[in-house]
Amino acid sequence: MSRVYNFSAGPSALPEEVLKEAAAEMLDCNGTGQSVMEMSHRSKAYEPIIAETEALVRELLNVPANYKVLFLQGGASLQFAMIPMNLKKGGKAAYVNTGVWSKKAIAEAKKYLDVDVLATSEDKNFSYIPDVKPVVGDYDYFYYTMNNTIMGTKWAYIPEAKRPDGTEIPLVTDASSCILSEPLDISKFGVVFAGAQKNLAPAGVTLVIIREDLIPETPPVENTPTMLQYKTHADNGSMFNTPPCYTIYMMGKVLKWIKKNGGAEGMAKRNNEKADLFYNYLDNSAFYHATAAKGSRSLMNIPFLTKYTGDEATAINKKFVAEAAAKGLVNLAGHRLVGGMRASIYNAMSLDGVKALIAFMDEFAKAN
Ligand SMILES: *Cc1c(COP(=O)(O)O)cnc(C)c1O
Repeated sequence: MSRVYNFSAGPSALPEEVLKEAAAEMLDCNGTGQSVMEMSHRSKAYEPIIAETEALVRELLNVPANYKVLFLQGGASLQFAMIPMNLKKGGKAAYVNTGVWSKKAIAEAKKYLDVDVLATSEDKNFSYIPDVKPVVGDYDYFYYTMNNTIMGTKWAYIPEAKRPDGTEIPLVTDASSCILSEPLDISKFGVVFAGAQKNLAPAGVTLVIIREDLIPETPPVENTPTMLQYKTHADNGSMFNTPPCYTIYMMGKVLKWIKKNGGAEGMAKRNNEKADLFYNYLDNSAFYHATAAKGSRSLMNIPFLTKYTGDEATAINKKFVAEAAAKGLVNLAGHRLVGGMRASIYNAMSLDGVKALIAFMDEFAKAN
């Protein structure tokens, strides 16, 4: 079967070029006679692979020298616990609830410290990002989910937070579904983390970019496991134990592809073009509409509904997803919390893929 256009929310499509390269190196990487899957992570053959991946993260995201770049396991979800376990000081943190992933992070944080939920958009099923005025409070950190994969919303601004004495409160953000989709000023953040399986690599690694002064010498929470201390991984170059070697290798390839295509700016141009085309189509359609509010819309995940409601909607959504799949446009079913359909158009999705989807949607609207 030929390659499909894959609109999966994650794990998601990877650039075809990257897959071909990996396939060509499967049995013999760089003349070693080994697959990267078979290499010791402490070997001369593997060392340059992880070093290059880290160097590309630093280059493409302009990571300042006083930040560590870590490759961890446990998914973005483990960061929901590692953040409070490592950043706890006074014992209170600020969160904003913009959907499922924020809720999960809040629930996990509550196990380790007091959580103030400063704002929520739950009143309108998380279809918008609340306008959070500059925050003043005695918080150890301020946490938000930058792009809400399920709800299809994205923060259009970087929030501001200060302690009553005027010192900075570190900003922490979950950028799992938007990392490197556009430029990001890392210096504004204490921690930026991202599960790799949306925009960076296959599943299996979580990228954590953390300012060095936020890594505690001794864990503030008693009995914190060694593996859940940032210090463990920072001190050992993400090699305290066996890292997800192959996934890191794949991330390096994806990052090279991003670099070749203009870096973060190049991705922003490509992603804005795709998203503008798609939102424009939805906004001008009598049959479909986007669920996310203007001003809060994601570049990466676009949920949409049809004009049908109730049982009729359930039937038409099912029909849409099946007929699209038959045309090679796959993984378009919406998340049950939003309903309808969702097109995830991460970096690897081409403008042609979006055009093909719109052409199908037009046909489908006329027929139904
Ligand atoms: C996918 C996703 C997660 C969960 O990632 P895992 O690696 O599966 O733990 C968390 N946050 C956001 C924003 C996501 O999109």
